[in-house]
Amino acid sequence: MKLKVYAWLDSLAELYPKNVTTFIAGYSHLGLPLKGIRIQLKENATRVALIDSAINAREWITVATSTYIANELLTTKNETLKAAAAELIWYILPIINPDGYNYTFFVDRLHRKNMQVNDTVDCSSYTGSNGIGTDLNRNFPYQWMASGGASDWPCSKQYAGPYPFSSPEARAFRSLLEGIGENLQFYLTLHSYAQLVLFPYGHTVDPIDNYYEQVSIYDDWVKSAYQTRLVFCYELRDTGTYGFLLPTDQIIPTAQEALASIPNVRPLQEQGSGRLLNSPPPKAAPGISADVERLIYKGFHKIEQQNRIPLR
Ligand SMILES: [Zn+2]
Repeated sequence: MKLKVYAWLDSLAELYPKNVTTFIAGYSHLGLPLKGIRIQLKENATRVALIDSAINAREWITVATSTYIANELLTTKNETLKAAAAELIWYILPIINPDGYNYTFFVDRLHRKNMQVNDTVDCSSYTGSNGIGTDLNRNFPYQWMASGGASDWPCSKQYAGPYPFSSPEARAFRSLLEGIGENLQFYLTLHSYAQLVLFPYGHTVDPIDNYYEQVSIYDDWVKSAYQTRLVFCYELRDTGTYGFLLPTDQIIPTAQEALASIPNVRPLQEQGSGRLLNSPPPKAAPGISADVERLIYKGFHKIEQQNRIPLR
């Protein structure tokens, strides 16, 4: 069992003892930690940001991107990014699904779900996205089994589990949110691949062509449970040429594209009426609110331009 990413997180905590601590949100089905880091650059910062990746095991580029962002938050010479980094307390959880992620290195590169074996159906003859395990994306209670193409067939790549929070990984994520949810201002979850920016909710409106296929319900759950103002899901490169097997020369450019949106978090927080911050989430078919649309276009125009992300 090697998760080099965890050793790297430890090294950051050693290198920046004043600003970086590691945390363990919980443990996976096979007992691996869900380890992350907390970065606080300004003593009086109170608002929290959360970035996570690899809830779907095969999406390697997402781990490279979240760790790249972590490193840049600590080392950047760019004044705008520095100011944005100091504004928030950053929680970065690079591998929500360590069992599955590990499995993609040693057994099945295209495994998607966690490694929880279902008692009733043997999925061992399936591989890749349809192998064993629960799709952690769809193991959250918000609109459980009602959205995102969730399936009750254990060998489906979108198997939602026998009940919400049946997976220890989803429960670990919940416990992390119980600790930071109140102060959470910005939540970014990284997926691949599609080159899209997605935002809640996935079950009501279809703002982007393949929202139903791509989006998870756990960012919807964060939004609904904590009314977090800024919730985004980035589907990183590419659009299908290489898919999950993105060549290494695209790693840094992909990470830089995602990073380019980070300095816009602060102006996004400060502008606008505060409606998104103060009101409960819409209950049904809200359409794309004008606020959200404006925030996306204004704040995230950089990533849109660089990536030509279709927003409608
Ligand atoms: Zn994904």
